[in-house]
Amino acid sequence: MSTESKLQPIRGMNDILPSEIAYWQHLETTARALFAEYGFQEIRVPIVEHTSLFKRSIGELTDIVEKEMYTFADRSGDSLTLRPEVTAGLVRAMISNGLLHNQRQKVWCMGPMFRHERPQKGRYRQFHQIDVEAFGFAGPDLDAELILLTARLWQRLGIQRVTLNINSLGTPQSRQAYREILRNYFSRHREQLDEDSVRRLEGNPLRILDTKNPAMAELVAAAPLLTDYLDDESALHFKILRHHLDAVGVPYVVNPRLVRGLDYYTRTVFEWVTTELGSQDAVCSGGRYDGLVAQLGGDSTPAMGWALGEERIIGLMQVQGIQVQTQQPDVYVVLVGEGAEAVGLKLSEQLRSQLPGVRIETNCGGGSFKSQLKRADKSGARYALILGDSETEQQVIGLKSLRSDEPQVHVSWDQLVAELRQRVA
Ligand code: ATP
Ligand code: MG
Repeated sequence: MSTESKLQPIRGMNDILPSEIAYWQHLETTARALFAEYGFQEIRVPIVEHTSLFKRSIGELTDIVEKEMYTFADRSGDSLTLRPEVTAGLVRAMISNGLLHNQRQKVWCMGPMFRHERPQKGRYRQFHQIDVEAFGFAGPDLDAELILLTARLWQRLGIQRVTLNINSLGTPQSRQAYREILRNYFSRHREQLDEDSVRRLEGNPLRILDTKNPAMAELVAAAPLLTDYLDDESALHFKILRHHLDAVGVPYVVNPRLVRGLDYYTRTVFEWVTTELGSQDAVCSGGRYDGLVAQLGGDSTPAMGWALGEERIIGLMQVQGIQVQTQQPDVYVVLVGEGAEAVGLKLSEQLRSQLPGVRIETNCGGGSFKSQLKRADKSGARYALILGDSETEQQVIGLKSLRSDEPQVHVSWDQLVAELRQRVA
């Protein structure tokens, strides 16, 4: 086959097949339920935004903006970008819809994100995030609440052995002083910096701390600590957050090297990491961004959020052997013969009306009794209902257990709902 005729998805963008969907649904359903329990509401925002939004919020000198965005000119010549993350779009939506005037908002959102990275296990070009953001809360109680929500999500999903790293980045003012100290430090070791880091030295030396280049690990490890330059208020904020986490009993590691890849963070940042997914160790990360709303033109509003990578969480569930319920029918209806087919479809509809929630799959596409029974078995159904022409004449149906030795019985049509309710409802 020529490359043109062989249809392939775009590199790094995956189909999620019915055979894998149970994990996705389980994760998303669990998260949705938890968000409602914590008082968060869903919001949906576009996948495409103006390129300038991401440049202004994420920061020009970040990996995302420098190398990872899918940016294109649309037919009117506007520069648009497929969202690499959703915080920027959410903040934009809060401002454009006037949702922040003297209001507090707690929202969540899920969907695909796009980054032009080198595809590898756990790192894709289209990937999916579940995202939570809260606007209008300045205090560390909210920071704690957001982190506690993540901890409970792992617990609900049965995920174990993930480590919570936390740090405080202080305020832009306190960071200013530290930035100079860091710039001096890296300038003194300029010959050890890679190309990206040299470029960031002037504009934003903090970004250098976030490098993934192993050749620079030692240099970064010996750099001065931001934590030593924290302003008093940020230090107090961080202390209260730790106190809340201690009180609830959520263990964490204070990691003064955690800076996070985006420019807009202030004070609290956190990341949940695992050692069980190879080099893609971050499964969920977030932080406070008190300055972003004003920076994008809204009323000054404190805010904080986090995002988890669905592919990585699902990968972790699989590595840890967590089983999820697959959607199998309860009942498979075998219909042999034309007369049976018409009656069977109608009977199945009546059952679905009277037994909502019970999964009833009718055999479509005909086939012999034997082949239909095979399909019934393969479907995973617990029971087969068997309707042939003789059953139709007598107004009965065969009820056969597919998972036990229970003998097959004939049930009259008017008894069927009661019989099924006993067994599967
Ligand atoms: P990493 O350090 O692995 O590149 P990141 O700091 O760029 O992660 P964030 O921007 O904080 O990640 O996104 C939040 C979460 O989204 C991450 O913790 C991770 O689980 C997931 N994630 C980020 N990029 C990808 C990707 N390309 N493919 C799959 N998941 C991703
Ligand atoms: Mg990244």
